[in-house]
Amino acid sequence: MLAKLNSLGLKGIEGYAVGVEVDIAPGLPSYSVVGLPDAAVKESKDRVVAAIRNSGFELPSRRVTVNLAPAEIRKAGTHFDLPIALGMLSAAEALEGRGEKAAEAFFLGELALDGALKPVIGVLPMLLSLKAAGHSGPVVVPAGNAGEASLSGLDAFSAATLSEAAAWLSGKGELRRCLHAAPPENSGSVGDMSEVKSQAFAKRALEIAAAGFHNIIMVGPPGSGKSMLAKRFSSILPPLNDEQSLETTKIYSVCGLLSRAKLITERPFREPHHTISDAALIGGGSSPKPGEVSLAHNGVLFLDEFPEFSRASIESLREPLESRRVTVARVRDTVTYPARFALVAAMNPCPCGYLGHSSRQCSCTPLQVQKYRGRISGPVLDRIDLHVQLAALKYADWSALPEGESSAAVRERVLSAARRQRERFKDGRAVPNALMTVRHIREHCRLPSGASELLEKAMDKMGFSARSLDKIMRVARTIADLEGAADIKKEHVMEAVQYRSLDRAVETV
Ligand SMILES: [Zn+2]
Repeated sequence: MLAKLNSLGLKGIEGYAVGVEVDIAPGLPSYSVVGLPDAAVKESKDRVVAAIRNSGFELPSRRVTVNLAPAEIRKAGTHFDLPIALGMLSAAEALEGRGEKAAEAFFLGELALDGALKPVIGVLPMLLSLKAAGHSGPVVVPAGNAGEASLSGLDAFSAATLSEAAAWLSGKGELRRCLHAAPPENSGSVGDMSEVKSQAFAKRALEIAAAGFHNIIMVGPPGSGKSMLAKRFSSILPPLNDEQSLETTKIYSVCGLLSRAKLITERPFREPHHTISDAALIGGGSSPKPGEVSLAHNGVLFLDEFPEFSRASIESLREPLESRRVTVARVRDTVTYPARFALVAAMNPCPCGYLGHSSRQCSCTPLQVQKYRGRISGPVLDRIDLHVQLAALKYADWSALPEGESSAAVRERVLSAARRQRERFKDGRAVPNALMTVRHIREHCRLPSGASELLEKAMDKMGFSARSLDKIMRVARTIADLEGAADIKKEHVMEAVQYRSLDRAVETV
């Protein structure tokens, strides 16, 4: 007999409907899965058969064929266990009174050998895609995914075991409705900008970066406060809107990193170590997963000791920095993950760290310095809008200075600059200044008289590339927005030029 149930597949961070057909026919006992299953789906046999037996059901020894449709899309993951098991029970006529629920409902869940349902990854993106396609449910998910399923707004139920799901399907039992998880509490772990007493130039640059979602690199000796500043960068960024919140939560769901099944409402701050593999940074692997660049989506990617990352890792940032997404190849096709992050990179001025230090001697040769800096290639540096040099801090700086401006005060200015950017785009799609296209720049970044000559001179003197000129225009636009100025003024351009200091050749530093 043939049974058909509904399930969902996951491609990147989008879901699609999958039909699970199970046929039990006379013949030698066998079990086969067709429809481009991956290894995890093929292994479902052992889990499903044991779970059915240990849940107290009898299965006839027959030929079992499972088809996952549409056949041309590769199916990955362990969440087809539940619909396959329920399909086998239906096809074996082990479920009585199987009603219209089977036709309407969608099932997701991995089975343990004892019949318990284990949580699976990607539930939220799969359910959101189902909702976007016009469905309202019902959906049945493992109890461990209940909180996440409730975020989808679908009619969602959770089951703890295969028996519970089977009883519900045959109309003999009820399932728990997935309820909204408790509202997220603020982590409050991010420090406040006021704790950084000095480094006014760097703080100004971070404010500009936050206002226009620009990338920034800080160069300074050890102890100059680079990581202290970077860690407080999130505290001056505008809050996530609902759409961004869901987008980011989807990525964490696909990675299985959704802690306590809560919606992510704070901008992520990711800080991978420089020994990270390329796949973990960018995404990929044998069964592809989003990397750190996607986990930082709508938030901050902090790369400390930037030149210490592998050459391949640094170069692989070019794609997400340019297109704000990454494309990962997998068998037969590719998946795309969003990666719209603000990069905050930090590095020492030289391998020993003390080049240009007021009281300590640098022990590096010019060649060593050049090699060290050369690890960040021109194309990568071109994609970083703001370059800031930090001086070493003296103890006196710390003890004598009053507290700096609070994050809340800086954030107020950032928010009004962000509002100005939103109002600039008539179709309502907010484009932060850092993401403006060349056409946007031509339209919104008109230069005042005298500024073109100034830029031309700066270009000759410092050897700026055309791309860094675009960066200067975008940054100047953000500086004008922070000031509340409708037009870019000459001083805005002059300040923006100051943030291209690494474009100069090493020997002039
Ligand atoms: Zn040195």
